[in-house]
Amino acid sequence: MSYMITSECINCSACEMECPVRAITAGPSQYVINPNVCIECQGYYPEARCKWACPVDACVPERSAYQFRNASLTNRGAPPVVLTANNPTGVKRMPIEVTSE
Ligand code: SF4
Ligand code: SF4
Repeated sequence: MSYMITSECINCSACEMECPVRAITAGPSQYVINPNVCIECQGYYPEARCKWACPVDACVPERSAYQFRNASLTNRGAPPVVLTANNPTGVKRMPIEVTSE
């Protein structure tokens, strides 16, 4: 596992300077963590240094980031599509309203 940066990033660069293995770089629209380089600060710090440094709490473990993203989508009225046996394509079918005129 590695850490990753959510869309809350405000491009302050604080995390980039703190990462002991230089896993963080500026991306096209926000800072990003290379998951192949991030070692979660093991052997360097007792906790993830990027998380410690980030002023907007945008550095999170990958799993938390996924959950955060899903929660954000849900808050914006676009809940993530969950594929199930009853709905294998993920296509939502809206109930048809019948009006009497
Ligand atoms: S958890 Fe540590 S190693 Fe991984 S990106 Fe953050 S500062 Fe770098
Ligand atoms: S410290 Fe947080 S806000 Fe600043 S560049 Fe890193 S992820 Fe973005």
